[in-house]
Amino acid sequence: MFVAFWMLLLLAGCSPPSTPAPTPQPTAPQAVGPLRAEFAADLDALPAAPRYAIDLDVNPAAARVTGQQQVRYTNAEEVPLEELYLRLFPNTPAYGGAMTVTHLLLDGQPVTPTAELGGSALRLDLEPALAPGAVVTLSMNFTVSVSAGGGLGYAQLALIDGVMSLANVYPLIPVYDDEGWNVEVAPPYGDAVYSDCGFYTVRVSAPPTETLVASGSCSVPAQGQWSCVAAPVRDFALVLRAGYWRESRVVDGVTVNSYAYPDDEEGGRLVLQVAADAVAAYTDLFGPYPYAELDVVETGTRAGGIEYPGLVVISDQLYGGGNRLEWVVAHEVAHQWWYGVVGNDQVDEPWLDEALAQYSTLLYYEATYGAETAASIVERDFVQAHQSLVATRQDRAVGLPVSAYDQPLYSSVVYRKGPLYFHALRGEVGDELFFDIMRTYYRRNRYGIATPESFLAAVQIVTGDAHEGLYEEWILGAANP
Ligand SMILES: [Zn+2]
Repeated sequence: MFVAFWMLLLLAGCSPPSTPAPTPQPTAPQAVGPLRAEFAADLDALPAAPRYAIDLDVNPAAARVTGQQQVRYTNAEEVPLEELYLRLFPNTPAYGGAMTVTHLLLDGQPVTPTAELGGSALRLDLEPALAPGAVVTLSMNFTVSVSAGGGLGYAQLALIDGVMSLANVYPLIPVYDDEGWNVEVAPPYGDAVYSDCGFYTVRVSAPPTETLVASGSCSVPAQGQWSCVAAPVRDFALVLRAGYWRESRVVDGVTVNSYAYPDDEEGGRLVLQVAADAVAAYTDLFGPYPYAELDVVETGTRAGGIEYPGLVVISDQLYGGGNRLEWVVAHEVAHQWWYGVVGNDQVDEPWLDEALAQYSTLLYYEATYGAETAASIVERDFVQAHQSLVATRQDRAVGLPVSAYDQPLYSSVVYRKGPLYFHALRGEVGDELFFDIMRTYYRRNRYGIATPESFLAAVQIVTGDAHEGLYEEWILGAANP
């Protein structure tokens, strides 16, 4: 997510790339379902990942979604599970919708769940407990009412000006880790979802006049019916609007699609170029994006942009062009590497994806405009921002949960001070080892969930030293604790 409107980037010599000449529609590269052909074996790499089969009936006129879902869940932990959770994110204040689950069956038997956290979590007691390696199948019906304004958050779930944004519109199983089940209501700022990679087969019905943009790869619609597959991904998001302008480009084997309102075609072209250049830069610096498609879509979100697997939304307020659009697109595309392929606890350790997405965005600028421009951005947007935090006695540790900051501090500490950790590490070990660390971290944590220790492990493997002093200084330390 990109949460604040602070980054102006009015640097001389840092203008957006020129609008390219219209390109013909690309021939899609070879893909195996949602993955590029060379990553097809990844589908077999996660036998215990949850498998979702979902039917969604989207009714924009009624701002409503009805659905059915079956989930096959394997206990991939080393301990028996006495309970299982479903998250109903539409019921959180940030989303401002209403989700109801009915006809819940566990291995074919009716079960009565216990609602927790204002109805945003359903707890299912398992008797007997689910042994390690054992499997259960859940099935359920559900309905979701989508609010016009989209709650207190960033209009993740909203119907605004005919754009239906549908994040987390199905019941999602959260992560069980060393803390147990991660079930909490995150602040309305910041990202709310922490989930494992899974396999998604989703059928969508909607009025045939709608254009569907979704995670993964979807069939050409037939009479308002789409079939989508997305895997291995940690979420499934979709956006619908009656008529989107679209243009596509293939870069490094990935089809990048830009969807914009028909009046914003020029902004849509700029978005396509930035997204394609960002995919090329991050592929080169970190490693390949394994999926066949990446969609970048204009919506009424109140964040600058929000990341989902294979899909990022960008605020329609930015499509007039300019540097802020470029920064936000490059930031959200970076999340496909950090959050998407390499997951993390976005609620409790947001720096691991947000500060890294910010530093990756800087690297996109460096690749596109050169080292001098990048140095100016570091100085003004990161170093001076941090100095101003210290001067106003607001400096805080970067490595805290979202809830430890108020909204302005979340943005300035995690997004502006946080990237200085990566910059300091790069300065200490040099470019060659630094980018080796990034590729090692990416490769070792693909489709998994990384922690700060996973990042330090990559530093240790590459350099023989975790350089913990830098981590303590920049992530754990603060001038004004
Ligand atoms: Zn972000």
